Amino acid sequence: MSAQWIDGKKISGEIREEIKQEVARLKERGIRPGLAVVLVGDDPASQVYVRNKARTCEELGFYSEVHRLPAETSQAELLELVARLNGQDNVHGILVQLPLPKHIEEKAVIDAIAVEKDVDGFHPVSVGNMVIGDDALLPCTPAGVIELLKRSGLSAAGKHAVVIGRSNIVGKPVSLLLQREHATVTMCHSRTPNLPELARQADIIVAAVGVPKLVKADWVKPGAVVIDVGVNRLPDGKLCGDVDFDEVAKVAGWITPVPGGVGPMTITMLMKNTLKAALAKADQA
Ligand code: NAD
Repeated sequence: MSAQWIDGKKISGEIREEIKQEVARLKERGIRPGLAVVLVGDDPASQVYVRNKARTCEELGFYSEVHRLPAETSQAELLELVARLNGQDNVHGILVQLPLPKHIEEKAVIDAIAVEKDVDGFHPVSVGNMVIGDDALLPCTPAGVIELLKRSGLSAAGKHAVVIGRSNIVGKPVSLLLQREHATVTMCHSRTPNLPELARQADIIVAAVGVPKLVKADWVKPGAVVIDVGVNRLPDGKLCGDVDFDEVAKVAGWITPVPGGVGPMTITMLMKNTLKAALAKADQA
């Protein structure tokens, strides 16, 4: 038997349609969600991400502005721009594309973004609110993972989820969000000695590691749900995830492909956060 694919492109498309409808309703109230994206330097991958974000804004009817700053921009200059965007009424979300050049302290920049405009969900206050279960703008990739499960009709309640990876942007928040969905979560990382054994106990595996094809077929319980966050470039230029897809798909019940699984959800959840921030501001007025 072969696993059912969780089609991130299709699910992402459905959410984008819902966002478009909400944008149309907001338009009648004279409100247009706005996203500002800031890119410092000329990292080629970051340039692609920023272009995609601007294009998605256009597709969904958002206002967007992109600030492309030279690599030698000082931290003070960047903080000045963030402060200006914090005060701008037509901007509901601010995203500073990471990584930043080495001479700029990322934490100082993230901390400077107004919490209500923190659409990446990386500000310490956003993270704290997420931990205690208060309303927060959630980090996009982890929120996308939860949305994929929900929209595939896969409840995490009472399930054992094994998350591989403990980064601040994926592993940690996805573990917390799964726990919030009432899963029992085991968080694994590079020092976990018995990873295959733990993974085999999982009803849901989330791999967010950055090691191509780490998760093998004999790590997976038959019928388990396997969510692959990894995006790795192989020597032949092809993309692959952290899961040995062809082999694992023979054992798992559900699986996300790479590309076309978690990837398309990240920008969509960014747009959803920007919409949420715009709605929150409109409701305040
Ligand atoms: P990271 O390097 O910050 O963290 C990797 C984590 O994996 C660490 O916690 C580390 O302890 C753990 N790890 C490393 N080697 C391990 C091993 N052999 N066994 C078990 N654990 C191990 O990476 P990240 O930012 O969390 O990203 C993880 C992957 O997800 C990368 O491939 C990245 O490209 C991808 N990613 C995809 C999206 C998306 O939108 N699809 C978004 C963010 C990250």
